Formats: sequence, structure tokens, C-alpha cells
Amino acid sequence: MNFASRMNRVTVSPTLKVGADAERLRRAGVDVVDLGAGEPDFATPEHVKQAAHDALNANFTKYTPSAGVLELREAVAQRYRLDHGVEIKPEEVIITAGAKQALFNTAFVLFEPGDEVITHGPFWPSIGDQIKLADARPVIVHTSMEDGFTIKAAPIIDAITPRTKAIIINSPCNPTGALMTESEMAQIADAAAARGIWVIVDFTYERLIYEPTPHNLIKVLFDRMRDRTVICSGASKAYAMTGWRCGWAVGPKEMIAQCNVIQGHATSNISSITQKAAIAALTGPQDGVTAMLNEYRTRRDAVHGWLTADPRFVCVKPGGAFYLFPYVADLLSPTGIRSSGELAEALLKEVAVAVTPGEGFDAPGYFRLSYATSIERLKEGCDRIKSFVQKLESTGKLTATR
Ligand code: PMP
Repeated sequence: MNFASRMNRVTVSPTLKVGADAERLRRAGVDVVDLGAGEPDFATPEHVKQAAHDALNANFTKYTPSAGVLELREAVAQRYRLDHGVEIKPEEVIITAGAKQALFNTAFVLFEPGDEVITHGPFWPSIGDQIKLADARPVIVHTSMEDGFTIKAAPIIDAITPRTKAIIINSPCNPTGALMTESEMAQIADAAAARGIWVIVDFTYERLIYEPTPHNLIKVLFDRMRDRTVICSGASKAYAMTGWRCGWAVGPKEMIAQCNVIQGHATSNISSITQKAAIAALTGPQDGVTAMLNEYRTRRDAVHGWLTADPRFVCVKPGGAFYLFPYVADLLSPTGIRSSGELAEALLKEVAVAVTPGEGFDAPGYFRLSYATSIERLKEGCDRIKSFVQKLESTGKLTATR
């Protein structure tokens, strides 16, 4: 069949593929421990669900403005006012089908052929593929495990050329959980402002930061280059609302108006019921967010301890999000399992544990393990991974241990 050439530039989202493979096994009756999923295992808070019931009962089921109802755009603005001390007007906000569509709209409004867009790797795959779909070229600046994957300004600034249109920062980062500090962001903002470059922050995991680290990247950017800053985020991770599909982009009103043109032709508004639920999430009690964060922290510490008890798993303890990203090269060998992709396949096939191979994040030699699942399942998953490693060892298919 003849497809448009842009389809040759992109691949199926590897994170979604792992989920589909695990689901196929589960349907066949296999007890899969799914550590691939990038979504909270918690239920959406009760008061949020109640707001959705109320919306349905009130027949709030018609089209809304494409950019979302005013009350929700105000609720987003109020959240950032309370959490970050910044003033945002409703016309500087568009409500989207997840942070994914916020980033997609942004890419299509800003990027064109010949543009370079700098981001840091390992990265969430859709960031690179969206840049390519928008006909621009991703320029990847690699962070390193030795540095805790921290996102540094200097190599990003070094990568700027006259073609650079934008810099995309994802902090906390999926898959590494690393954060960018405010001072590094200030350096990027100063460099970008001086050259008229946009800075786009993927803030999807903004509420999932474990230690009391200053992370007011929005204020840093707004103080220096508000006219070229875009924040993309959403309700998925903070409020356990992945399936509801609610995200937002915050940016200069002219740019948000352009996003609305794209969205108006593509999807229009997100579900009217979701919008009412999201208002309740953003304006209601926030203690559920803290409770989930505390639980994720306990799991992070436990899984990190279980895994790194075996020196063949080298793993940074992440500062945010809900993923571990161990380096597993010691489990690979030319005569056994040759790549982290093959390792992920073998783990699923042999011990029914789903993890996402590093290849999808531009980081072969690693895999991503999500700890957004119960502590019992995490223990079960780690035990299975370890029994798999022992089996590899007994077949003499492992390289030397550290
Ligand atoms: N950005 C990052 C870094 C993510 O990990 C995800 C979800 N996995 C998204 C954006 C999109 O999330 P959503 O569309 O559900 O808001």
C-alpha cells in the first residue's frame, strides 16, 4: 500500500507496544507482571469521579469550545498560581487530549522543514517522533548514568545552531526520572532568549518529585522569556487520570490560538465529561497527590534496593516520575542475549515480566521498569527477574559479574 513518506520517519510507540504484548499474553491466561505500563495503578480520586457523574446527570454532554471550557482553563491557571506563583490568563491555556496532544499541537505550530529541535536523551519516544512528523530534525544531547542522568545546560547550549527552532526539556524525565535544576534552566533560558529560540517543557511528571528540590522551572522561564515558553502537562499522572485524556499547553496567547486552529481541525474539544472531572481534580483537595507520591517513594526505594542487591543491575535512584532505568549490559553477551531488546523479549517469554527495552528511548543497554504497580507485584516481578538471571548464569550465558 502507498502511505505518505512521513510514515517512514516514525515507528509505533515502543511503550505502547510493550503494553499490547503483555495484554496479549494476559488474554491467553498468563500471569504477567506488567512493569512496562507508564500509568498510575491508583484509582482516580472519588471526588473527581463524582464530578464526572454529575456532569453526565446534568447532560453536560455536548461540544464545548475547542480549547476547553473557560472554567477548566482558569483552573489550570489557578493551579500554576498556587504551585508556582505565576500569573496565567485563560487565553494562554488550551486543553488537549493529554500532554501528548499538547506537545503534538506545539510541534505542528512551531516546527517546519530545516528546523532543528534539541532535546535530551534517553527520551520519551514520542518527543523525537513528533519532531520528525512535523518535518523537523531532532538533535539529541545525551545525558549519562554516571551523572545521574541530570539534564545539564552546557551541552544543550553547545548544540545550538542557526537552525535551532526550539529546545524541549522533559523534567522529571521519562525514562530516567532525572530533574533539571532551576539554575541549569536559567542558563538555557538566557541562551534561548538571546537567540529567539523556543523552550518547551514537558512537565507531565511535575507533581511526582520525591525530595524537596526547588523545581520552579516555569517561573525561571517566565521571568526570562515568557514570549517563547510553552509548558505541556496534564492530569494523567498527578491525578491517576490516564484514560480520561486531559492535558494542557500553556504559552503566549498568539501561539495557543494557533494550537487551537490545529486542534479545531483535528479533534476539537476533549470529552466534556472529562473537563468537569479535571476541574474537580485541579481545584479540589490535593492530598491524594501527596498520598500517591509517598507510596511511589516507598516503592522506588524498595525496588531500587531489590534490584541493586545484584551488582549486575546498575541503577540511579531517580528524583522524580515512577520509573527505574537500570543498565543491564552485564546480562548481555554475544553468545546469549545480545541486546536489551532481546532481554525484554526473553523476560516476557520466560518469566512473564513486561519491561520496556532501552532501545525505544535511544538508550540500548538499559530497560525501563515502572513502579506504578503494587509493592507485592513489584516484589514478584523482581523475584522473577532474579530467577531469570540465575537461570542465565547456570547456562553459562552471562558475561563476568562486576
Ligand atoms: N510526556 C511524557 C514524558 C510521558 O511519559 C507521557 C506519558 N507516558 C506523556 C507526555 C503523555 O501523557 P498524557 O498524554 O497521558 O498526558
